[in-house]
Amino acid sequence: MSPSNSPRSDVSLTHPDRLYWPDEGVTKQGLADYYAAAWRFMAPYVVNRPLALLRLPDGIKGHQRFFQKHAWKGMNPHIEEIADPQDADGEKLLRIGDFDGLVALVQSAVLEIHPWGTTTGNWEQPDMITMDLDPGEDVAWNAVISAALEVKARLETRGLAAFVKTSGGKGLHVVAPLAPKAGWSEVKDFAHSLAESMSADAPDKYLATATKAKRGGHIYIDYLRNGRGNTAVAAYSTRARPGAPVSMPLDWEELSDVSGPAAFTLANVPQRLETRPKDPWGDFFEAAVPLE
Ligand code: ATP
Ligand code: MN
Repeated sequence: MSPSNSPRSDVSLTHPDRLYWPDEGVTKQGLADYYAAAWRFMAPYVVNRPLALLRLPDGIKGHQRFFQKHAWKGMNPHIEEIADPQDADGEKLLRIGDFDGLVALVQSAVLEIHPWGTTTGNWEQPDMITMDLDPGEDVAWNAVISAALEVKARLETRGLAAFVKTSGGKGLHVVAPLAPKAGWSEVKDFAHSLAESMSADAPDKYLATATKAKRGGHIYIDYLRNGRGNTAVAAYSTRARPGAPVSMPLDWEELSDVSGPAAFTLANVPQRLETRPKDPWGDFFEAAVPLE
């Protein structure tokens, strides 16, 4: 991406040379540079949503690892505190509104961003469904791709659009945009029934419950990202794992060429964004329909 397209931020980074992924040589400044390149694609998935944040002040090899849904001491003012309307007296939640907010997360050593599947303007009507495909031991990557295509087909049968991204960890996430209408319980019930139907039709391949005993050889279709207060890693978010992987939105057509769930990393995504400027999720929100 040309520098003229890069968003600017007034948030200053202290210790920009601090290593967040030491083996990969990725520094705080390197992370900020990555998000500057990704921002125009990523923004709709992180702006104005309640966030859970994975903070590792000493990087991925450090001992401190905080999964935070609430403010911390000395938090940058570009990270906003917001009240959950259903818990008005409870501890406030977190939100960002712009690129300054994202840079503030970088400054705070947030290495993973996990939003709710809703915006704070429409809190009780989710705007996406996330189906998380978690392969057990000994499941071939090809089988995970087949599972994603199966989820896509079932979503489309229900009139929904389906988009796919790597998790940056072990699997794939299939995400359906929703026009905000159905409430949390309806959306979660729908996701549950989709997972159950896949498991019922191919019990040798798919599980809809997190029964660890049977996990080996199966793909767990985790629908539990879709309840009120649940989260899934954001599209384009980095992961606090070796290799500095990101959760990468893909075209369905390229999925079979992708070598695995952690194929996209801070080392190769900026070049991809530059050389393939078309966003594979570019019409995500235009494709949204209500869950009826
Ligand atoms: P993978 O491909 O490895 O399954 P994933 O993104 O699908 O990657 P995880 O990173 O294992 O799955 O889990 C992410 C979700 O689990 C988060 O969105 C969040 O809801 C929850 N989560 C993750 N870490 C914590 C934690 N420390 N405490 C509470 N909940 C967490
Ligand atoms: Mn997963």
